[in-house]
Amino acid sequence: MIYFDHNATAPVMREAREAWLAATENISGNPSSPHGIGNRAHVALKEAREKLAHFLGCHANDIIWMSGATEANNTVMHHFAKTLDTKAEVWISSIEHPCVHESAKYYFGKRAKLIPVTHDGVIDFDWLTAELADTRPALVGVMAANNETGVIQPWREILAICQSYEVPFFTDAVQWLGKMPAKDLGQCDFVTGAAHKFGGPRGIGFLKIPHKSKITPLLVGGKQEQGVRAGTENIPIILSMLAALEAREKQIGHSQHLLRGIWRDNFEKKLLKDLPGMTIVGANSPRLWNTVSALMPDGAQLKWLTKLDKAGFAVSTGSACTTGKEEPSHVLAAMHFKAAEAHRVLRFSAGWETTESDWDALVKALTKIHEEIHGKA
Ligand code: PLP
Repeated sequence: MIYFDHNATAPVMREAREAWLAATENISGNPSSPHGIGNRAHVALKEAREKLAHFLGCHANDIIWMSGATEANNTVMHHFAKTLDTKAEVWISSIEHPCVHESAKYYFGKRAKLIPVTHDGVIDFDWLTAELADTRPALVGVMAANNETGVIQPWREILAICQSYEVPFFTDAVQWLGKMPAKDLGQCDFVTGAAHKFGGPRGIGFLKIPHKSKITPLLVGGKQEQGVRAGTENIPIILSMLAALEAREKQIGHSQHLLRGIWRDNFEKKLLKDLPGMTIVGANSPRLWNTVSALMPDGAQLKWLTKLDKAGFAVSTGSACTTGKEEPSHVLAAMHFKAAEAHRVLRFSAGWETTESDWDALVKALTKIHEEIHGKA
């Protein structure tokens, strides 16, 4: 099976497995315990925090371990809901992951305002600039890169404009981390990430908070994580996440050709030639090197998925699936695609281990299936 669904979850890297095993065997204590074994766990946790802070460019105390990005994103919304007055608004992009979208809606209702995006899937920067000149929301939230389209958002520019108006800026960096350099993300007030998207284990992520800030916890109980997140820290998966991120940061440093998306671009060129009538979603925007969102010329998503699965390719539609029935993607709707078009979109998301010949094999399989759908084969 050739795996093209890394934006959903990526295989656990060797480095991450080894770090998990070593920590499980050697670090048995609770980091809050007042003895040598506990202290050993405490030191391991401290070092992991320092390492992540180094990659992001922030202070180690700004890092809070979380069970994943869903918890981290919910914690951000919950914190603002608890601390803001009842009129304050939060502005989030209309293409955020459901765990941002739904939690913003849950806590703020109509006071969660959606920042529009262009047909190419980038937030409407002119809209944001004009609105900020007029009104001050309590928070602006825009993801670093979109999970469905791979479109990169101008988070550095958004951060700069938010800083100029003293509005806190939050970025969900789940799809960015491990694919692009983490450097500078730490300048954002709130940053979230999840290990399983870059080769770490499932069930671990983090929240980066503003320096020396007081955050209202979502989970209450023990005073772990400076009182921001109750519950005994899971040291093996934290160390495993850091081992994966460290390995990815090294790969990023050595793989400038891949980061330019050369294989992705060649794949798209071949696909556009072989499948007349298909469109690349977000084609005119800067995109992650690993992601292609393709509006197929014909055939429903499920038909393509089943045929690709049979042919040995795991791909995705990218949008949330409820009870086996695909809802039209809110991301594609925000980009002004019609529901009928959204139902023809497939997402191919490669990983670090994907080869150029894997991309080629995928084009061939898609071309063959396209011919079958047309009754030519
Ligand atoms: N944010 C983005 C952009 C994502 O792609 C995902 C997962 O697909 C999440 C948040 C949620 O991550 P998790 O399911 O690990 O909590």
